[in-house]
Amino acid sequence: MTQTSDVDVRDMGSITIELDHALAIRSVDHAWDLRADSFGAIECTSRFVTGTSILTFITGGTTRYFYERLYRWVIDTGQTVRLPYRCDAPDRTRHMEALIERVPEGLRCVHTTLCVSPRPATLPRLAFASTAPLTIVPFCSICMSVSWQNRWMNLQNACEAGLQLGPSALPVACTVCLSCSHLRKRLTSGPLADHSVSP
Ligand SMILES: [Zn+2]
Repeated sequence: MTQTSDVDVRDMGSITIELDHALAIRSVDHAWDLRADSFGAIECTSRFVTGTSILTFITGGTTRYFYERLYRWVIDTGQTVRLPYRCDAPDRTRHMEALIERVPEGLRCVHTTLCVSPRPATLPRLAFASTAPLTIVPFCSICMSVSWQNRWMNLQNACEAGLQLGPSALPVACTVCLSCSHLRKRLTSGPLADHSVSP
């Protein structure tokens, strides 16, 4: 059994993405290419993604809108943002942090792996539902937490707290959790009080 402290070699370190003012990818570093290669995603290596808008790599309208606002806010204010987020692989949960800072050419985004833990293979990535009674579970499209027993928590914790996965893929109610909603409000309603943002 893998321990929480074991980091998959594919998740180690940081990757850096440089964007221009129009949010097109100016460059990605060697660590990005290594990671794309380890996933067999040749179409995501630097020679294919350079010049493409970063937003085309973000799925989900709400999430894309959130990141677009965040990037524009950093460009407009020059303030640096530190944003914890989750980016799971099918077999492991990954807690990441994005550091987004303004540079003369646009933005520099450094994504660092903070913590990785194994994830039961039986957890579907996006489609889940409680079977008794049949309930569609609200799912935060920004931080990927679910609302269970009146609390927002990550999917693994919700399963430990009694959420039963459905026998087949069912649509989830994609929404935004309270803390992400607060963050989004702050981003869309003017300057933030401090330099770092914690959803
Ligand atoms: Zn959230």
